[in-house]
Amino acid sequence: MPLRRWLRHSAAIVLVGAGLMSVLPALGPDLSAAPTDGEGSVSRPVQSTGLEIPTPPVAITGTLILTTTSPFDGESAYRFALDQCDMGPRITGTESGWAAGDYILEQLQNHGWNVLEQKFTYRGVNARNLIAKKGSGPIIMLGAHYDTRPIADKDPDPGQKGTPIIGGNDGASGVAVLLELARVLDVAATRKEIWLAFFDAEDRGNIDGWPYAIGSDYMAKNLEEEPACMLLVDMIGDRDQTIYWERNSHPVLLQEIWEVASKLGYEEYFVAEYRWQITDDHIPFIRRGIPAVDLIDFDYLYWHTTADTCDKVSPNSLARVGHVLHAWLSDRADTCLLLAPSRDR
Ligand SMILES: [Zn+2]
Repeated sequence: MPLRRWLRHSAAIVLVGAGLMSVLPALGPDLSAAPTDGEGSVSRPVQSTGLEIPTPPVAITGTLILTTTSPFDGESAYRFALDQCDMGPRITGTESGWAAGDYILEQLQNHGWNVLEQKFTYRGVNARNLIAKKGSGPIIMLGAHYDTRPIADKDPDPGQKGTPIIGGNDGASGVAVLLELARVLDVAATRKEIWLAFFDAEDRGNIDGWPYAIGSDYMAKNLEEEPACMLLVDMIGDRDQTIYWERNSHPVLLQEIWEVASKLGYEEYFVAEYRWQITDDHIPFIRRGIPAVDLIDFDYLYWHTTADTCDKVSPNSLARVGHVLHAWLSDRADTCLLLAPSRDR
């Protein structure tokens, strides 16, 4: 893990081991305990969340039996990632950013999803969230951001720090997983209404005064119906994949999803331990009281560098996440109906 500079007025993401699940302090703008530079600290420049971590309201017990075989195809998902990388940087409000949105809409429509565009303007920049819906029953939302960061501010080469990133992992990978699920998921069999949300304007945070997660914040504030759960995938396609529990995520959902991963034989890649606390597109939904999880592999050497390209993404990594989500949706998503809402409603 490279050293990263601590930014004052950013929320801390502290390297942690397995720990207490329900007694984390809320993040806030006063960072008197901010870590200093050094191994084990990191400063993804994020907005403070002000969240408290929910206590598990129910104990999920019983043996997990996976009843369906996942048709999720990692190579197919990878092609969705390559298509995005081929478009170049997909920055909010740019021509290629809009083209990426059109591409996503086209894939979703090809597979029979009802699609909605949610256009909005932020500081004069035109942005657009996309939502695809299918099925009936309680709503489960899966989300990913599809915009890419306008500058490679973590690039080791000072001459590259102003260059836009391609976002092979940070952008394309999450979208690729959702598009492959859109292709193969038997929604009727889940007895749920599935929403696939594609957020714009996630990754311009701390540039020109923009926060992170603008698109998801807009979507969460303009929901006409409320999902029972929200699962976010972000930066999950790394060839060197290790996905830990994220600390803002709902603990019961973490346990369940990682249990599914374990049943699939993925313990090496889905490590059931806390590691990072991250402000991401799940936060606006948690603030609304919706139980949410961020599946994110933040141990990624090429984060916010020009080297975050599709060759860093692996079909097998995409497939593992896809299989886990498919199995959870097929066999375990009823858990969402048992969960108490988060506390910051
Ligand atoms: Zn990013």
